[in-house]
Amino acid sequence: MQSQKQHPPTYSFEFFPPNTDEGAEKLVITARELAELKPKFFSVTYGAGGSTQARTLKAVLDLRAAGHAAAPHVSCIGSTRAGLRDTLQLYKDNKIKHLVALRGDLPSGTASAGEFHYANELVTFIRQEFGNHFFIEVAAYPEYHPQAKSALDDLNNFKRKVEAGADSAITQYFYNADGYYHFIEQCEKMGITIPIVPGIMPIGRFSQLARFSDACGAEIPRWIRKKLEGYSDDTDSIRAFGLDVVTRLCENLLKAGAPGLHFYTMNQSTLTTAICTRLGL
Ligand code: FAD
Repeated sequence: MQSQKQHPPTYSFEFFPPNTDEGAEKLVITARELAELKPKFFSVTYGAGGSTQARTLKAVLDLRAAGHAAAPHVSCIGSTRAGLRDTLQLYKDNKIKHLVALRGDLPSGTASAGEFHYANELVTFIRQEFGNHFFIEVAAYPEYHPQAKSALDDLNNFKRKVEAGADSAITQYFYNADGYYHFIEQCEKMGITIPIVPGIMPIGRFSQLARFSDACGAEIPRWIRKKLEGYSDDTDSIRAFGLDVVTRLCENLLKAGAPGLHFYTMNQSTLTTAICTRLGL
């Protein structure tokens, strides 16, 4: 784990692109509040479909105009080489040098994956077409990707992304630090040396967290699930408990040598700020 350590550790915050003008204005305020914590960058997710993709670029440009470092996510499933080349060129033309490169998921009902099947192909494509212009982050799954045939298969597929030219990785969120430590040990044994930054999901609403976790295969440990279920609609207790759990997780990760933390903010500053304040950032 110590091989992962960075001095000082880096912090980054993830947003999704707002779909209204009001949401866009609010995001700039949220980013201003979170900027007090001196993050390395903000990232903005990328959805399937042209309109959400345009919103990703707009959100990134809004963040940049407000003086923040920002990185768009880009996904490849369902895309063509020509379409992706245009998107990446647009990013380059807008002086964007930092990307989070993903496979993405096909919207239900979509028949064809398109010209790309996996994120390693996207990373290879970016390096072929744009050389070292972009700093490329990729996704990692300490609890393994839900579609992976086996744990070893998933690790080998992660390695493919690194060998294709990824500079750094951000993990799916998790609440069990041991899974992350084990994943890092496996990566070290395979000669993977890029930083693998834990993704952190603050706990705000149980129903939403349970839905996300079911969809992305992130485990909510039974003791946490039981406690959250027991609080029912008592939002204050959920938040207080969630802050304790997630702050302790972050403390343990940093103490063990995690290179930084990437927060899934859900476009809200309150919980992320509270955790970072408790961490003494
Ligand atoms: P991959 O690395 O391609 O892996 C997907 C699956 O295929 C895994 O099971 C893997 O083992 C397997 N695999 C990989 N390569 C191969 C290969 N060459 N041959 C055979 N099997 C292979 N989704 C979005 O739509 N937009 C976003 O903005 C977004 N942001 C994200 C940010 C982070 C930090 C994370 C962790 C996830 C994000 N996602 C996003 C979700 C992500 O798109 C999904 O988890 C998706 O299912 C997998 O994407 P990936 O890039 O990890 O895929």
